[in-house]
Amino acid sequence: MDIFGENVFNDAVMRERLPKATYKSLRKTIVEGLPLDPEVAEVVANSMKDWAIEKGATHFTHWFQPMTGITAEKHDSFISPTNDGRVVMEFSGKELIKGEPDASSFPSGGIRATFEARGYTAWDCTSPAFLKEDGDVLTLCIPTAFCSYTGEALDKKTPLLRSMQALSKQALRILKLFGNTTSTNVTSTVGAEQEYFLVDKKFFDQRMDLMLTGRTLFGAMSAKGQELEDHYFGSLKTRVAAFMHDINVELWKLGVLAKTQHNEVAPGQFELAPIFGTTNIATDHNQLVMDTMKKIALRHDMVCLLHEKPFAGVNGSGKHNNWSMSTNDGLNLLEPGNTPHENLQFLTFLCAIIKAVDDYAELLRLSAATPGNDHRLGANEAPPAIISIFLGDQLSDIFKQLQNGGVTRSLQGEKLASGVSTLPAFKKDSTDRNRTSPFAFTGNKFEFRMVASSQSISGPNVVLNTIFAEVFSQFADRLENAENFDQTLQQLLKETAMNHSRILFDGNGYSEEWVAEAAKRGLPNITSTVDAALVLLRESTIELYGKHEVLNKTELESRYEINLEQYSKQINIEALTMIDMAKHKIIPAAVKYSTELANSINAIKAASSAVDVSVQENLLIGLCSTLVSFNSNLSTLESVTLEATNMSEAYEQAVYYRDVVFKAMGALRVDGDKLETLVDAELWPLPTYAEMLFML
Ligand code: ADP
Ligand code: MG
Repeated sequence: MDIFGENVFNDAVMRERLPKATYKSLRKTIVEGLPLDPEVAEVVANSMKDWAIEKGATHFTHWFQPMTGITAEKHDSFISPTNDGRVVMEFSGKELIKGEPDASSFPSGGIRATFEARGYTAWDCTSPAFLKEDGDVLTLCIPTAFCSYTGEALDKKTPLLRSMQALSKQALRILKLFGNTTSTNVTSTVGAEQEYFLVDKKFFDQRMDLMLTGRTLFGAMSAKGQELEDHYFGSLKTRVAAFMHDINVELWKLGVLAKTQHNEVAPGQFELAPIFGTTNIATDHNQLVMDTMKKIALRHDMVCLLHEKPFAGVNGSGKHNNWSMSTNDGLNLLEPGNTPHENLQFLTFLCAIIKAVDDYAELLRLSAATPGNDHRLGANEAPPAIISIFLGDQLSDIFKQLQNGGVTRSLQGEKLASGVSTLPAFKKDSTDRNRTSPFAFTGNKFEFRMVASSQSISGPNVVLNTIFAEVFSQFADRLENAENFDQTLQQLLKETAMNHSRILFDGNGYSEEWVAEAAKRGLPNITSTVDAALVLLRESTIELYGKHEVLNKTELESRYEINLEQYSKQINIEALTMIDMAKHKIIPAAVKYSTELANSINAIKAASSAVDVSVQENLLIGLCSTLVSFNSNLSTLESVTLEATNMSEAYEQAVYYRDVVFKAMGALRVDGDKLETLVDAELWPLPTYAEMLFML
């Protein structure tokens, strides 16, 4: 309790340190969204500075989230010179609210040329300032949005804040229709479950692929993987428990509500989940979680891998984005209550969400598209690339009733029948779970399960907020003008239930049958990041984002460019890393071992012609023929990678990286992994899967 929030300039600190009037005015901005008074900023800045200095900070930074997907900071000290050659510590309101980092070296997707370098960071007072600790160094971090000189968003925060406003506006219209006159704001809430791997640093340091790309580009599968299902929820290793303890302490200091932790499915894989919060803060906190995990792992001589697929052959990592919305007076709008069939407001929101997910499935798919996630979505470990919704027994039953034009019952969970009299008899949930669904209702929230482990959760939540805002606005338009509200509502719910039943699926999302069935239903199945990117340029996307003022056409086009550029760059780095490892690690090892074999054959033959050297000879033949094939695949990869770098059109280039370069990487890996199984372990230059996955 004492350390929680100790490094945060949170509400309690502000109430204690700010003059009453300043505090009240700032709260109005934070809670009610009123414009910020510049005089307030001046007072807050001074108070923040005093607080930070007392804690030992000397510098501040605007902390922002450019399109790289990670956070950026540029530190300035508080010092200001005096006439007598000394300094005082200062921090002005202007410095608090506005920063001016050179924007030319951040991805902008062609919005700005390098000579138009101006970019601005602007204080987001809805997310509290905090002190980041790097060893003994503390820096005051001010969460900020990042825009170009002409006002276009260059970051992940700006569209998120805009989408939250849009959602609030439209959700309030629906609430009003149901007679709610007290709520003045609706915020989306998010709890992001974060998966990650840990590897021993001494292995990491010997793997250029992990260092440069976050995943293993070579590596034969170890004899044991995850098939015994003995890692999931297994007892924590002492070293991992110590890491988790440290990470919790650091996150608690930062006001992150770190709550749940456990071993995940793959060996060496783990999860951390915080208690949910406002989407904006949850997004900032998830960035802090990822950043802190990487730092703290090093303290324990481990490296934290956030890549979606660090190891082939075992599960990769994702992020479950639990989403709901609450009013400022504390109502969770996705709480069905005990008898959801009587809760028309809930059913209206539910139907709107179902319609939105069906209408904008491709945007949702796009929001989780990253080169790393292409390894997972559709493989048997993560939801398929096809968007569908799991409602569970109770709501599915109600949905069917809606289709038939009237709801009269809510199925209830029965008592748990364990068959043991001493076990407590409690009521089960009204619904089982379904782990294979990309978008599942889980009691009083939806869980979007496609999100990539390393990505910012901003993008997925921008889409969720915006598409829901859109359908809420469609519903509100119709209901506000209704002559007979009850009749119109019944009709609207019935229509929605009838028109969007194709998006509901409660079977096994990992099965082949579902892919065929989804195709029959006409559900989109976008299998790669490159294809997903095209959705950004669609007329319907531009219209949607324009209408709700989340992203304009220029911003969408820039994000399209950035998506493709990042895809191509990522694959290019992977290809070059493979080439380097092939040439400087794998070929030399194979050559050395083949020479040893040849020397051994010659030596034995010279010693006695009666000895059978067929084992050595067969090994040598197998090794050398694999090496020939490896080398030929290497040449192919080198030439296609060069070809790719020479292409200038972004989409064409990304397609080439996906269809040609990535494929050539796959071929090279097959031979490389075969060589690993042939070469003497003493000579193999890379740590093995068994070492990396099991030696923690
Ligand atoms: P599971 O692994 O079974 O999905 P967890 O407890 O690990 O469950 O994660 C559930 C997440 O959902 C937590 O982060 C939790 O805080 C979050 N959550 C709970 N209620 C809400 C809500 N109303 N809005 C958003 N997230 C929520
Ligand atoms: Mg989950």
